[in-house]
Amino acid sequence: MAFELPTLNYDYAALEPHIDARTMEIHHTKHHQAYVNNLNNALAGGEWDNKPIEDILANISKLPVAVRNNGGGHYNHSLFWKLMGLNGGGTPAGDLSDALNRNFGSFEKFKELFANAGMTRFGSGWAWLVKAGQELKISSTPNQDNPLMDIADVKGIPILGVDVWEHAYYLKYQNRRNEYLAAFWNVVNWTEVGKRLK
Ligand code: MN
Repeated sequence: MAFELPTLNYDYAALEPHIDARTMEIHHTKHHQAYVNNLNNALAGGEWDNKPIEDILANISKLPVAVRNNGGGHYNHSLFWKLMGLNGGGTPAGDLSDALNRNFGSFEKFKELFANAGMTRFGSGWAWLVKAGQELKISSTPNQDNPLMDIADVKGIPILGVDVWEHAYYLKYQNRRNEYLAAFWNVVNWTEVGKRLK
């Protein structure tokens, strides 16, 4: 069973005007598809073929760099699509709201710290909200690394992530990563983030 490109549960235009349809289409059908294809090629016939992606990522230090880059790419994008959606935005509720307040002081402070993690990631990578034991932490990773990898500085379960590669925003925002990160809050599916916290 090779890995496959997941279907989005919304249209490419669903996140307009915050994330444009053309960016979504290229990001999903070209970038993500390439990670899937390259991951399958890198694993084919080897010891880790047909293993769950989480197990592969937890052992990534023992695997070739092509698996690190493309396995991370496949996992990160599969997650990213689910963390956004039609009628996104607003504010988190319930346990998630409580956890953000407890760990970061307030929702506003959390947003500031998370956006800062994205802004200060030099070059390509991701910013994350990570469940690490009973704590929530904010981190960023280079390239397609993520908190599930055994090489990550901050290890845990990613419950929110934002792609800060230029391919995620350049068509609409060009060099203005700050505007893209500000717009991201309008499309976050907090229900999904809350499920991942549980
Ligand atoms: Mn991407």
